[in-house]
Amino acid sequence: MRSAWLAGWWRRVLWMAVLSGVGWAAESPLNEKLPVRGFCIAAPSGNRLDEFLGFIEKELAPRSVNTLILRVDYGFQFVSRPEMADPDGLSRAQAQQITAACRRHGIRIIPLVNLLGHQSWQSRCGTLLRVHPEFDETPLVQFPEKYAWPNPEGLYCKSYCPRHPQVHGVVFPLVDEVCDAFESDAFHAGLDEVFYLGEAQCPRCRGRNKAELFADEVRAIRDHLHSSRRQLWLWGDRLLDGRLTGLGEWEASFNETAAAVDLIPKDVVICDWHYERADPTPVYFAMKGLDVVSCSWRTPDVAAAQVRDMVRFRETSTPQMRAHLKGVAQTIWSGAGGFLQQFQNRTNTNVTGAGRTESACFVRMFEAVAELR
Ligand SMILES: [Zn+2]
Repeated sequence: MRSAWLAGWWRRVLWMAVLSGVGWAAESPLNEKLPVRGFCIAAPSGNRLDEFLGFIEKELAPRSVNTLILRVDYGFQFVSRPEMADPDGLSRAQAQQITAACRRHGIRIIPLVNLLGHQSWQSRCGTLLRVHPEFDETPLVQFPEKYAWPNPEGLYCKSYCPRHPQVHGVVFPLVDEVCDAFESDAFHAGLDEVFYLGEAQCPRCRGRNKAELFADEVRAIRDHLHSSRRQLWLWGDRLLDGRLTGLGEWEASFNETAAAVDLIPKDVVICDWHYERADPTPVYFAMKGLDVVSCSWRTPDVAAAQVRDMVRFRETSTPQMRAHLKGVAQTIWSGAGGFLQQFQNRTNTNVTGAGRTESACFVRMFEAVAELR
């Protein structure tokens, strides 16, 4: 009797070992095919934190998402600079809850604070320039009462002046505080859609080479992060020539920054966003020796194509190139609360993968990822 029980016990142990081996084996080829499977979203407000933690648990983890780019920006209860704290933003304790949830599921968390560009939105100044108006690259550009694009002054978002002698002394400690709160080993600096750079009205920047200005700022941020062994991630649009490629002035550059691709440090990660087509630009970044992740937004077919392309690029490349072609990420721009609501409604109506919505695109991208298993 005892020997029969023992034999049963050993069989159970054996099966557990086999099954856990199967799980590992299923994950391992996926990591080989697509090492980065990312999701990028604004940090939730404190009162939606539980809902967000549930989303990580029930939606991101089962879809094998392993990288969460969290757009914290200035929505954080900064302790080091209380005058820049957002009382409705996340606290350090709440950040730790998100970190713990991600850690349980093997998700690498990469907080994002917009540096250089995106320091205003329409007619509203962001926290940095509100508290430190002296950092404004274009102090002569006034916010219109009613914002419209295009406008005569080319105001999309304000930038800080990267050559202001005090600007890094203010923003880098904020970056450190956010990264420490999330215990992150990487930081996303934004750096997209920087339209105001090297402007004539800035006495420090006027007449300077814009690609060099951009690359100098990337290097300054990278060097700061390097001292705490953190990796810099950034959007790739300023590194692509918008005219040459036909990609335009949003997802690529019209303001002479594209040459910075040859000037920036090689140990950064480029988030290469294209929302209307699956442009083959990841290969360009990889050939420049830069790690790259393809990013999607709200077009499900584009997201699925980006997954297929990235896998194919990796399969057909040399080991040297393959090492740079990292994976994909779904980006969400509607705010965490709005997206969670949209996603919930999608589930209720049982619509999957259809229509141009962020939730449909997210679902489709990770269906395409699941097909790789
Ligand atoms: Zn300047």
